[in-house]
Amino acid sequence: MISFTYEFKLKPSNKQIRDIEMYLDICRSVYNWNHGERKDWIRSRKSPIDRCSIEKEYIIPADKPFPNYYIQANNLTQSKKQYSHLKEVHSQVLQSTLKRLDQAWDDFFKVKGKGFPKFKNKNRFRSFVYPQIKSSDLKTTQIRLPKIGWIRIRKSRDYPTGMMPKQLRIVRKVTGYFAQIVFVSQESIPDILPGQISLGLDAGVSSFIATSRGELIKTPKFILKAARKLKSLQRRLKNKIKGSANWLKLQKKIAKLHFKVANRRQDWLYKLAHYICSSTDNIFVEDINFTSWQKGLFGKQIGNSAIGKFINQILPFVCFKRGVYYHQVDKNFTSQECPNCRLATGKKSLSQRLHSCQYCGISLDRDVAAAKIIEQRGRVAVGQPANSKYTCGERGAGVLQLTLFDLVTVQ
Ligand SMILES: [Zn+2]
Repeated sequence: MISFTYEFKLKPSNKQIRDIEMYLDICRSVYNWNHGERKDWIRSRKSPIDRCSIEKEYIIPADKPFPNYYIQANNLTQSKKQYSHLKEVHSQVLQSTLKRLDQAWDDFFKVKGKGFPKFKNKNRFRSFVYPQIKSSDLKTTQIRLPKIGWIRIRKSRDYPTGMMPKQLRIVRKVTGYFAQIVFVSQESIPDILPGQISLGLDAGVSSFIATSRGELIKTPKFILKAARKLKSLQRRLKNKIKGSANWLKLQKKIAKLHFKVANRRQDWLYKLAHYICSSTDNIFVEDINFTSWQKGLFGKQIGNSAIGKFINQILPFVCFKRGVYYHQVDKNFTSQECPNCRLATGKKSLSQRLHSCQYCGISLDRDVAAAKIIEQRGRVAVGQPANSKYTCGERGAGVLQLTLFDLVTVQ
């Protein structure tokens, strides 16, 4: 199933702002209380049996199970009888807050590099989620927040056609309140079948993305320039006294620029996805967990969240809209195999830009070589021969818009 998130700025009334803030406060208190309960349980298990620590005033019976999501959700329902303010918030919103806590704990144990969950202060808790919304909750210029009511939005784009709204997240940012709506494709839409022409993509070391056709696509200069400016403003913020008038002013400026950079980047990523889709039937990409990737496991494009968003969200969405087959292949050792003779050529250091095969003697850009391997794996996955007569620019690479893409063809 394909899902996609659209963001709209809200135009709430003063009363609605108070309601949203109240939701955030109550959700935050639920999050923190339940986080504390989990922490206390862990702490009680750590206490040695033969000594009684004075700090450990919580005596939790030995057979009491760990307060997991189901136990905490059940307790929450009970607490509503005692604490009436909990009833002010839509029950699904409170449940999704507990899910979020559960996810944070889960990530800590399962995802490498994730820290222990923290108690949230006002600045760290800025959103809440309605896990289920309906088409009737969306009007042209308004959206309905169950229990809060209709709120006006700035309609910056049309809702996607042929998709259903599923989830709604309300986020407080420095520039105001935003609604992030997740749309999903309806299941009645038939699956897209693989065609003859394939393209492999690899998130590059030196480029944003490399294709199996030999294209290295770089992030355009105007985005890099704006991102650099953003960084320098953020550095300046450190020298200001937190909370002062100048600090606040700069904070606003940063938020505005951030918004602008994000929009431009998103716009470019869409154009890139359409460009890629315009010349192929099938797109194969690496199956990468971008969270651990960004933590430096792979060392490429560290901290560039755009690549994860592109490969996991934007590209599948555009493929879906344009009827292009999209498939993720096994990511292992794509950079250690020769696309020409298929032999294992060994590990490359990050500074090594070329793939030079010691067996067959072929020499080409490392990212392009990896993209070719991805294409071959994709072909095999859909039951086609690894090397097809259609490979390598059989059908031209479309119109090269150099100003837009800063694109280099290396072969
Ligand atoms: Zn070789």
